[in-house]
Amino acid sequence: MVKHRNWLLSAIEPDVLADLGPRMVPVQLRRGDELHAPSDPVEYVYFPDGALIGILSETLSGESVVTGLIGFDGALGAFEACGSRKAHMRGVVLVSGAACRMRASDYRALYDTSPSLRTAVHKHVEVLLAESRQSVGCNAIHPVEGRLARTLLEAGERCDGENVVALTQEALAQMLGVQRTTVAVAMSALQKQGSLRSGRGAVELNQDALEKTACSCREILQMLKFEIRTTRAESCDA
Ligand SMILES: [Zn+2]
Repeated sequence: MVKHRNWLLSAIEPDVLADLGPRMVPVQLRRGDELHAPSDPVEYVYFPDGALIGILSETLSGESVVTGLIGFDGALGAFEACGSRKAHMRGVVLVSGAACRMRASDYRALYDTSPSLRTAVHKHVEVLLAESRQSVGCNAIHPVEGRLARTLLEAGERCDGENVVALTQEALAQMLGVQRTTVAVAMSALQKQGSLRSGRGAVELNQDALEKTACSCREILQMLKFEIRTTRAESCDA
């Protein structure tokens, strides 16, 4: 049986997963692919297995900021497909790579069948909400260099990029909500410290150095994510 690195797929009971057959389709996602658009019906749910997807929030004048990242740890459309069945944000591929996709109707049937998937999806929502809350404070309080270091580490560990993450300065600017020139200055400072090496369309990461430079939100979120993912539901029953 195929072993999935995607956390939601790996949570599904093996016999249920084996029964999916051709309903679970491996796909190769390319940087810039738009998978979901605001107000469109959710046709497919995407489970990254190497690719990195950005959730974009937009203004009426057309500016956009990445407000969420989905990689090995989740799926695009996992809760919208079961709720309003519409995308309320844009889902765009930031880093090319592998993924699996399911038709939303097949996914809903799977969601009804698999208690393990339901628990994993609920935890995925908890993680995304925790990250969103932390990021609001982070954006207001922490300097760009620490935020950039945290963003690079979090992006890298969600895709095939723990050592080299294929992100451009434009993409990083959109992820941090700052000008590209601000990213260039912050990257130059991190490069001088030996935390990274910037190349053409990719960044080579020095994990240990970046961990030391990342803002304290990194540590808080790692603890929260560990707690959310490892707590068993029955251990909370009073
Ligand atoms: Zn922070």
